[in-house]
Amino acid sequence: MINNQKVLILGMARSGLAIARLLSRYENKITISDKKEQTEETLKELQSLGIQVVITDAQETLVNETWDCVIKNPAIPKDAPAVLKANQLAIPVLNEMEASFAFLPKDVTIIGITGSNGKTTTTTIAYELLKRSGKKVYVGGNIGTPLAALVPEIESDSILVLEISDHQLCDMYQFKTDISVLTNLSEVHLDFHGSYENYKNMKKRIFNHHTEKDIAILNQENHDVLELTNDIPSHTIYFSSKNTADIYLKENQIYYHDESIVSCDTIKLKGVHNYENCMVGIALAKLFGVTNTAIQDFLKEFGGVEHRMEFVKTINGRTFYNDSKATNNQSTMIALDSFSEPTLLLMGGLDRNIPFTDIAPHLKNVKAIFCFGETKDKIKEFALQNGKEVYVFPTMKEATLKAYEVSSPGDVILLSPACASWDQYPDFEKRGLEFKEIIEDLS
Ligand code: ADP
Repeated sequence: MINNQKVLILGMARSGLAIARLLSRYENKITISDKKEQTEETLKELQSLGIQVVITDAQETLVNETWDCVIKNPAIPKDAPAVLKANQLAIPVLNEMEASFAFLPKDVTIIGITGSNGKTTTTTIAYELLKRSGKKVYVGGNIGTPLAALVPEIESDSILVLEISDHQLCDMYQFKTDISVLTNLSEVHLDFHGSYENYKNMKKRIFNHHTEKDIAILNQENHDVLELTNDIPSHTIYFSSKNTADIYLKENQIYYHDESIVSCDTIKLKGVHNYENCMVGIALAKLFGVTNTAIQDFLKEFGGVEHRMEFVKTINGRTFYNDSKATNNQSTMIALDSFSEPTLLLMGGLDRNIPFTDIAPHLKNVKAIFCFGETKDKIKEFALQNGKEVYVFPTMKEATLKAYEVSSPGDVILLSPACASWDQYPDFEKRGLEFKEIIEDLS
């Protein structure tokens, strides 16, 4: 536990501020630094807590042998000059989650959820289902509230569900879960980690310090997950969308061992990938005694996490889905595979010079493509090459209105842009919110 120490915090985003506040409750001497100017309100608050603030582009100049530890934002790379200098001086470099861990009551059950895709959805399902166990449950980490901000309110004998990214796992040492989930592994974030091998080895840290008393929930159909975890000591629970496992999909039902838990027809979320996310949630729910009825009732109502294949509304028989988080081909392919209905696809955004050809085999149910933004002309070409009707507009609003105009009852109107939003929006959330406003106005 960090107490009576001199601590340098690099990065004043949410997690940096949260750990500064937590450590200021103890006898620590804290300096926090960022490159960006901060609001008057933040500066005043930190000053009132006795925390020193330094705004500088050259954070390495702050690093010297007087610090007991450096806590860095997960997005700061390991070869940033300030981190290298701390390493040279043998000063421990950790992150907010690692630093917060020691402050948790010892009898809290910690569930850590990581993977290349599906972390946020799985974490949300797990949290909602576990709330039905009768225990006090908290959620945070890479989703919503940083762990440091949760720490002061966490009660003993509760459950803590944490979404954990590969960036966060980079600076984890003592941190240990009781239950770890690895949803899947694919080649992402290679720019940050240098290689897929490095990335996988970071992900493996989610099982750090596990013994046979701890639990690992793993995707049986992901070869890299199986290979990476073949020597962990944890008790394993496997899920599978293809074959028999501890929890698996068979004839459109989710089974837990031999018991049918829920029929996929009654699950509001769409797509096999989402059934996988549900399976993880159900496996956890069963461990904590949640009833099948409670599981069924929740999954009947849960329309997904905002901006991730989120069910928005049905208007005159047309159903709208917001998948604004789909900022690459892979996500749009998964979204398209989730529907058997005729689909009107809204696509477009920032041009990263990546061809859309990968999406072609997934266009079976697509009636027409409505494109917008920087990539609109490339998408038009792609649509025509694949024999699809296409409408081209400068903005998403015009594309959405046209899609509604030409749609028929029974159609799905899907925003799954396959592009980042930054050509026209500050982030994918703003794009998704605007989409939902357009739909609201239509109704
Ligand atoms: P993450 O938090 O890992 O980014 P999300 O739950 O936010 O994951 O989902 C982001 C996108 O990843 C979704 O829109 C969907 O396209 C895809 N996705 C979600 N769950 C899975 C899964 N289990 N397997 C593969 N892709 C998934």
